[in-house]
Amino acid sequence: MDEQMPECSLWLGDERAYCRAVVGVRRYLPGLRCPLHTPAALAGQPEPQTGPGWPAGAWTTPSPQSASALFDARAVASGKRRAAAHTYRAAQQAVARH
Ligand SMILES: [Zn+2]
Repeated sequence: MDEQMPECSLWLGDERAYCRAVVGVRRYLPGLRCPLHTPAALAGQPEPQTGPGWPAGAWTTPSPQSASALFDARAVASGKRRAAAHTYRAAQQAVARH
């Protein structure tokens, strides 16, 4: 079966032919189907509606690069993180600005 043009692949037993409609064809588990022959339509059910999807913050990073750099500077400035003297002074200046 070549797929250069997606068409409904439902076998219409009465007409002894495939539906072959090309408008609004989408892929479903049984194959390509036109809107009249989706699994839900054949079962007499309403089409399933699109869900809300993932929560907005599902994949956000809790500590972005800039935030972790600030935490790092605070740690250096507080003396809890070991650093060279000039790094320590620069960190203290950076933290003082925030
Ligand atoms: Zn069809």
